[in-house]
Amino acid sequence: MIPAPFTYKRASSVDEALDLAAQAGEDGKFLAGGHSLMPLMKLRLAVPETLIDIGRLSELSYVREDDGHVVVGALTTHDELARSDLLGSELPLLAHAAGQVGDPQVRHCGTIGGSLAHADPAADLPAVALALRATFRTRGPSGSREIAAGDFFLGLFETALLPGELLTEIRIPRPPSAGWSFQKFTKRGIDWAIVGVAVQGANVALVNMGATPVRAAAVEGALSRPAWARAKRRPTQPTVQARPMISMARAPTASTWLVSLSGARSRSRRREPDRWAQFLTQRPVSGSCLARRSASVRWRGTKRPSNVTAWA
Ligand SMILES: Cc1cc2nc3c(=O)[nH]c(=O)nc-3n(C[C@H](O)[C@H](O)[C@H](O)COP(=O)(O)OP(=O)(O)OC[C@H]3O[C@@H](n4cnc5c(N)ncnc54)[C@H](O)[C@@H]3O)c2cc1C
Repeated sequence: MIPAPFTYKRASSVDEALDLAAQAGEDGKFLAGGHSLMPLMKLRLAVPETLIDIGRLSELSYVREDDGHVVVGALTTHDELARSDLLGSELPLLAHAAGQVGDPQVRHCGTIGGSLAHADPAADLPAVALALRATFRTRGPSGSREIAAGDFFLGLFETALLPGELLTEIRIPRPPSAGWSFQKFTKRGIDWAIVGVAVQGANVALVNMGATPVRAAAVEGALSRPAWARAKRRPTQPTVQARPMISMARAPTASTWLVSLSGARSRSRRREPDRWAQFLTQRPVSGSCLARRSASVRWRGTKRPSNVTAWA
């Protein structure tokens, strides 16, 4: 449980971090909150020769508005996201999901940039970023670039970031539809998700259902259809069916999970805000009893529907 020897360097600016990373080459790694990298190093699953500590770069810690987007600095901690008034009013999905990450210690140290760059399919924020159609701004040896969340996650713990490239900012367009939901199923309250669902309007992304966060395309397609068409199609509900990606340690009893659009009804066809969809996440336990929870998401409704806060 003792990491292999490494050289520690602390950066005091983004420019210095990039210089240090360039000097370290492929054997260097950025250290942000350390809550994913340090456990891997202790297990010797990661053996970087040089650690470039970016944890004190306050210039990368912010939540603000910019050109129709909400922008978040990569070094913003989960706790800061959860307590941000701007996120609470504009992107409650992100604030709420950040408040579900681990325990208070993890939330005070772990950063959104670290969570995204680490690309654990069981992490919460990568799926949230996908559901919010976020774009990631980076700086590296060959300059700056922007990568859409959908192009960022390439595989298990693998992203589009190049060696020495720093994730600096997460840019999130204001969602056209205000309804949202975040469901996370865990063995214990503070655990990673066995499986999870992030919903923003008709965008649906799944946690721990593949090597990367995945979009539930069939459910998204169904949500985009008009209410009367969805109601008609209820007998053939679109369903995403998958096994949790990381199940041995985190979900020994979990079998197949279903995430389905289980019902869509229109209280009044003329009143858009009254349309609902319901997602079910089901877990067969011991073959007979069914652990089941449900969540409703209201879309095209008011900004902060009263029914969405108590699901986690
Ligand atoms: C007990 C425990 C419980 C947890 N529970 C959950 C949970 O329920 N849900 C969840 O989603 N996560 C959970 N986590 C993970 C937690 O959210 C981590 O903090 C997060 O995944 C990594 O953020 P970090 O800032 O600690 O990154 P670090 O550990 O410092 O870095 C992680 C990786 O990202 C790279 N990196 C970091 N920042 C950047 C950057 N700006 N640009 C480029 N590369 C970068 C590093 O080089 C490293 O490879 C848990 C962790 C622990 C220890």
